[in-house]
Amino acid sequence: MFAKLGIITVGDMLTFFPVCYQDRTNVVSIKNAYKQTQSCIFGKIGKAYDKQLSRGLCLLHIEIFDGISGGYVRFFRKKNPYSSVDIFASLKKAFKPGTFAYVYGSTKAENCSRFIDVDDYETVKNEKDKPLLFNRIIPVYSSIEGLNQKFIREAVKSVLNSVCGLYPDVSDLIPDFDGIPRLKSSLAIQKIHYPDTLEEAENARRAFALQEFFILESALSLSRSNIRKNRKSQRYEIQKTLLTAFKNNLEFEFTKDQKKAINDIFSDMQSPYPMNRMLMGDVGCGKTVVALSAVLLAVESGYQAMIVAPTEILAEQHYLTVLNMLAGFSVKTVLATSSTLKKSSEREEMSAGFENGDIKIAIGTHSLIEDKIKFKNLSLIIVDEQQKFGVMQKFSAVGKARSPDVLMMTATPVPRSLALTVYGKMDITSIKQLPPGRTPVKTYFLDEQSAYTNTIWELKNRNQAYIVYPIIDESDKLALKSAVQESEKLSRTWFRDFKVGLLHGRMNPSEKNKIMREFKNKEFDVLISTTVVGVGIDIPDATVMIIQHAERFGLSDLHQLRGRIGRGSKQSYAYLIGDLKNETARKRFSVMTSTNDGFKIAGEDLKMRGPGELMGTLQHGFPKFKAGDLIKDVDIIEFTKSLADKIAEDDPCLSKSENAVLKRLMCRHFSDKIKLINIG
Ligand code: ADP
Ligand code: MG
Repeated sequence: MFAKLGIITVGDMLTFFPVCYQDRTNVVSIKNAYKQTQSCIFGKIGKAYDKQLSRGLCLLHIEIFDGISGGYVRFFRKKNPYSSVDIFASLKKAFKPGTFAYVYGSTKAENCSRFIDVDDYETVKNEKDKPLLFNRIIPVYSSIEGLNQKFIREAVKSVLNSVCGLYPDVSDLIPDFDGIPRLKSSLAIQKIHYPDTLEEAENARRAFALQEFFILESALSLSRSNIRKNRKSQRYEIQKTLLTAFKNNLEFEFTKDQKKAINDIFSDMQSPYPMNRMLMGDVGCGKTVVALSAVLLAVESGYQAMIVAPTEILAEQHYLTVLNMLAGFSVKTVLATSSTLKKSSEREEMSAGFENGDIKIAIGTHSLIEDKIKFKNLSLIIVDEQQKFGVMQKFSAVGKARSPDVLMMTATPVPRSLALTVYGKMDITSIKQLPPGRTPVKTYFLDEQSAYTNTIWELKNRNQAYIVYPIIDESDKLALKSAVQESEKLSRTWFRDFKVGLLHGRMNPSEKNKIMREFKNKEFDVLISTTVVGVGIDIPDATVMIIQHAERFGLSDLHQLRGRIGRGSKQSYAYLIGDLKNETARKRFSVMTSTNDGFKIAGEDLKMRGPGELMGTLQHGFPKFKAGDLIKDVDIIEFTKSLADKIAEDDPCLSKSENAVLKRLMCRHFSDKIKLINIG
């Protein structure tokens, strides 16, 4: 059962920190206990009475008296009606008349009597005996069915008493910081479980978090410096042949943020070390042209470049964009997805072109990376919509290039504190402004009728609409069936004058691809879809997005979905249809209807969902923090990052003796999870 809670080793148990505390420092008189709903009382035990309430339920109440007033301690127990065992036997033994008891529970006044329904208790023989679990702050642990608090507390307490002192500690490597007390990890652990005051608990948590983030940031920093350590062989030189022509071909000027991003990327590429950069920017901010600039720098310097997209349709879109922008130049570009790679004739031709260097730009899906195809001189790998892959997937170590420059792009903007940990092993550039001339999407919470009526107006103006159903798990047959049925119904009723298409995750990639392409070519007006609706697809005439059961989507999903529209200059509309009863859903709707800013939305998301969940969606397999808190500890994260950078520079292999513990901890925590540390 402990394993279900993630506790395998004693170390796990030591750091199985409480989710909250019960303040039992204040033991109040029985008279005052009834002024609040939860109380701790202390008194002398009197007689016990038990009673059968119904066939399956029994009640025990026991007199308690604190010298001034009295009440009843109350226990309810389920009972097998055919058993003759006294289920209260052990309680009666513990609460022997004349002993003293501390009781924590919820207080109630009923029928002129005072009761306390017991959450926890402790009995002592004499009035002056010191209790273990009262007059202090008590940890409350997250639990599962079958493991009660008492049992977890005892288990944790026993490892605290026996082995806590052995817990590894790196506090000597960390200078004083911002009033956080200097605590050895073992003492911090003790105090997190059993603090004297709530303030002490928070200080101990921060002290432990300091070490925790320090270890993480060290791991990230070392991997970063290890990537840098390998000097690369490729050298780029701006020739202005392709780049200038490309710029002249564009119908627009780069925004300031785009220029800065291109600058960052070019200076990475021209440095002697491989680029490892994350380009972060909201949907529609124009990351593609930035990426293409990098591609062209590689190509005009005589190298090959690769763009990897999460779906075939997106790869295809990039392919068309590149062809379009490079029209008139002889830069050989191919689309290499699993469907094109499958055909052996095409495959052989491509493979030859990659190997002899004829093909300059390869655009594909993940299968391109997994494929055994070799390149002549691949130097740049661009990964688009990285959030769909997961950070920890390795894109560089694929044997296609020695130390390639890698540029990742993501449309999931994350607040800086999170970025430092999630993307900590990368340099980060953000694009915050959208290109000029965009008309922001208007978002409304509407009833179904009004949404459809408004949509029909748009369709009559030759615009297109998406209708999205929340099928998170595509293997859920029932939900899928209802989406399919709904779509049939809609095409017979509201949208009978229009052409309606259907897209869902059960379709194979080429079917999905076909549907998206047909929608793009305006072969239908309405696309009914599950959440698989292609990421990053540009359909300028799609001006409406209806999101059904919007309460079931998280903020970032809603924002991503909304990003499918508003990609041209036309006014676009997002209509959220859903259940307002749910409080968090209401909050999400109000965020969605009030802002289009992805960074702001990510910040709200972080506040509402808590970092744990957000991290979970951002990347699989990323370590969970034991004490660290991504919202409260931004200062610690930044501090430990710069500290870790210094150590990585000073002792890149962690071979100095003072860093031995750090090295051991890092390997233990991260080497199996993120295979990015190679310090031997
Ligand atoms: P994303 O960052 O979501 O990948 P895209 O690169 O697909 O966004 O860009 C969205 C649209 O904006 C494209 O049609 C692109 O041509 C256009 N675009 C990009 N940069 C600019 C700019 N500086 N001015 C005007 N339009 C731009
Ligand atoms: Mg994109």
